[in-house]
Amino acid sequence: MGKVVVCATVIGATAACAVATVLIHRYVKKSKRWGKAKAILKEFEEKCATPTLKLKQVADAMTVEMHAGLASEGGSKLKMLISFVDNLPTGNEEGLYYSLDLGGTNFRVLRVQLGGKDGVVNTEFTEVSIPANLMVGTSNELFDYIASELAKFVKEENEDYKVPPGRKRELGFTFSFPVMQTSISSGNLIRWTKGFNIDDAVGQDVVAELRSAIERQGLDMHITALVNDTVGTLAGGRHKNKDVVAAVILGTGTNAAYVESAQAIPKWHGDLPKSREMVINMEWGNFRSSHLPLTEYDYALDAESLNPGEQIFEKIISGMYLGEIVRRVLYKMAEEALIFGETVPPKLKVPSILRTPDMSAMHHDSSADLNVVKSKLKDIFEISDTSLQVRKVVVELCNIVATRGARLSAAGIFGILKKLGRDTTSGSEGQKSVIAMDGGLYEHYTEYSKCLENTLTELVGEDVSGSIAVEHSNDGSGIGAALLAASHSHYLDA
Ligand code: ADP
Ligand code: MG
Repeated sequence: MGKVVVCATVIGATAACAVATVLIHRYVKKSKRWGKAKAILKEFEEKCATPTLKLKQVADAMTVEMHAGLASEGGSKLKMLISFVDNLPTGNEEGLYYSLDLGGTNFRVLRVQLGGKDGVVNTEFTEVSIPANLMVGTSNELFDYIASELAKFVKEENEDYKVPPGRKRELGFTFSFPVMQTSISSGNLIRWTKGFNIDDAVGQDVVAELRSAIERQGLDMHITALVNDTVGTLAGGRHKNKDVVAAVILGTGTNAAYVESAQAIPKWHGDLPKSREMVINMEWGNFRSSHLPLTEYDYALDAESLNPGEQIFEKIISGMYLGEIVRRVLYKMAEEALIFGETVPPKLKVPSILRTPDMSAMHHDSSADLNVVKSKLKDIFEISDTSLQVRKVVVELCNIVATRGARLSAAGIFGILKKLGRDTTSGSEGQKSVIAMDGGLYEHYTEYSKCLENTLTELVGEDVSGSIAVEHSNDGSGIGAALLAASHSHYLDA
């Protein structure tokens, strides 16, 4: 009897030992993996760090590049393009104007009735997404598509809108890609950005292309002003608030424009009196500096993009890329730390599958078990059963990427304020400086825009922060382009 008991005890103990060993082994393996995941996260966080000092160096570099770009054509990565907008809206503009905004995922067509001192009396718009194949097809296909949507919209004009007798309708064309303008209503495309790649349009006059497409639709209309979305936003912002000195777009891509005095533009040889002002389209998305905190993920993203080596600032701060950066880090964690199990979920390998709006939804998840993160991981990557610990890491990643982007955008704005001499209190008494902001990223990614605003205050300091404000200029670029068509109308003398 005694022998049997001893035997059973021994067997039991051995089995328990074996189970314990397996458990310990698993535990060790799991915590090793977890340690690896934490290490990847920590290293990424350190590489993305943007302490105040670094941001000030970035701002200084921005100011230096601005000077260089204004001094000579090709003098800087910042093109500092002359917009030919030397008269911003005054608030007296009147009449019916159209605007067409092409520059990213969607394009918009807008109809505006301006009533002079009464401001914008009526407005209507339509928004159409651009089929992916047209973004990389031929110039004619893209412009024909746009012109046909414009023609449809013009046909729907009702009696709230009035074209004065004997006049053609006028259009402000917002085209948000780098263009070398040759006048207020002509300009040649320098290159595509933001996922567009249409070879036969590069170097061409985009107004001429649009004009031909409009004619093919049988539409009779003047294209009066060709503007960048930042320039339009600046015009729209100025119309509402005379203290607006610059505009920044944070959407699919990013860019900034500001008001410069003509005498500070050495490369300008036009007949504009040096005392006048000129809006400069910075094309700041192409800014690059050794002070930018870049990581292995950014280098890889850039190398695999449609425009390697270009738009580096844009690739770390704008909506087209933020989600993709998060995906790349998650992929590394899945591969090297097995945070999603023994095999890497196949969907995690798909470039651009994590869009910035989804990243933002996960970042803003305030539920205790991070249910939004859970369902996004399931819907987008087909990863089920994630632990709370893993979901927390995902939120942390979103936070790191968004914070870096927002803080760098603020540094860019600080650079513009420095260039304008508006970064100190020594400017004229009571002088206000307002930055008109627009773009889906700024508008919807609250953590991002909050961080941007706080960082700007941190950079300018308490004393100056009272005189500086960022203001959301909702669809400023659409209204702004219409306003610029009005202030440059063919019928001004009439
Ligand atoms: P575009 O820049 O294409 O002219 P928008 O200014 O509307 O158009 O910006 C759209 C971009 O804004 C999207 O590509 C996306 O990156 C970003 N975005 C839109 N909604 C959100 C959101 N909820 N959270 C974060 N980013 C968003
Ligand atoms: Mg836009």
